[in-house]
Amino acid sequence: MKRINVTETFLPPKEEYQAVLDQLWKSKWLTNRGEIILNLESAVQDYLKSSAKPLFVSNGTVAIQIPMKVLELKGEIITTPFSYVATTSTIVWENCTPVFVDIDPEYLSIDEAKIEAAITDKTTAILAVHVFGNPCAVEKIDEIAKKHNLRVIYDAAHCFGAEYEGQSLFNFGDISTTSFHATKLFHTGEGGAIFCNDQNLKETIYYHHNFGHDGPEAFHGLGINAKMSELNAAMGTALLPYMDYVIEERKKISELYDTLINWKLVRKQKLREGTTYNYAYYPIIFESEKTLLTAQQKLNEQNVFPRRYFYPSLNQLPYIDTQKMPVSEEISRCILCLPLFVGLKEDDIELIAKIVNE
Ligand SMILES: *Cc1c(COP(=O)(O)O)cnc(C)c1O
Repeated sequence: MKRINVTETFLPPKEEYQAVLDQLWKSKWLTNRGEIILNLESAVQDYLKSSAKPLFVSNGTVAIQIPMKVLELKGEIITTPFSYVATTSTIVWENCTPVFVDIDPEYLSIDEAKIEAAITDKTTAILAVHVFGNPCAVEKIDEIAKKHNLRVIYDAAHCFGAEYEGQSLFNFGDISTTSFHATKLFHTGEGGAIFCNDQNLKETIYYHHNFGHDGPEAFHGLGINAKMSELNAAMGTALLPYMDYVIEERKKISELYDTLINWKLVRKQKLREGTTYNYAYYPIIFESEKTLLTAQQKLNEQNVFPRRYFYPSLNQLPYIDTQKMPVSEEISRCILCLPLFVGLKEDDIELIAKIVNE
């Protein structure tokens, strides 16, 4: 049996990628914000109906680092322990201290009721994650941030096509960031984007992502190179027309899992009311780590490789001072993301569900 991983990158037909590349062979313009990236930023905004036009960058990690730098964040950043490592590592990388707030056991995002207790006079921002594409309590977080004069950045790496109350999830917070890594729903191989509705802030972010250049000979200020290349943008250009199809197919697979899995033994993340889901992941939560490990082993024996997203809980990273996060630690031990990608066969889905049920 063929190896089945947690995900398989969806690629557009090669001729369609080739057709976009043909433009490059004519223009010989491979980076520095050529035509392909400029068109794709507009096309992505149209597709998502986001309030801001995205600024494309080289990956979803610098997409968080640049706003942190531009906002001159210092001191303590309130964040979630249940995410991919990049959420925490960027905070440390930018010389700030991550202060974890435990997650809600149902929604799996930062527990908004516990945020205020973690705020000190050193707190400067909240970096929250709409984990697996499920919105955080955005209204409440916004209210807390205003009251305490904090910035809000959403790591929205899982949120392409996900909506809350009829709006793109990228509309929320002072800044929203995303990743276009090959394992994400919409991808450019490597890549990411920053969404910001504040024009001044957006302008500074723009300068920062391109060495601070203000024309060939002048500089606005400090900067770094976080530009996306035209080659990467070409992949996104060929892929974008398939996104409705990709999401629809993933929805069908998710719904099949929904009907096949015995929900007496495992449970799902609860989606916040008002969410239009994008079917980015299919996480299931076991009763114990022991049952998870047994299921994982049985799946591996059948050449099926789900992933323990997200394990370990980020408060347990080796470079983090001890902060106990009982809910996140427990969820991290018991959660497994099942394979979900376009082309996953019905027989395989049935087999996977059967093993989980056993
Ligand atoms: C993938 C991911 C990132 C990092 O994105 P890259 O494009 O791989 O740098 C950051 N945060 C979360 C939650 C992610 O899942």
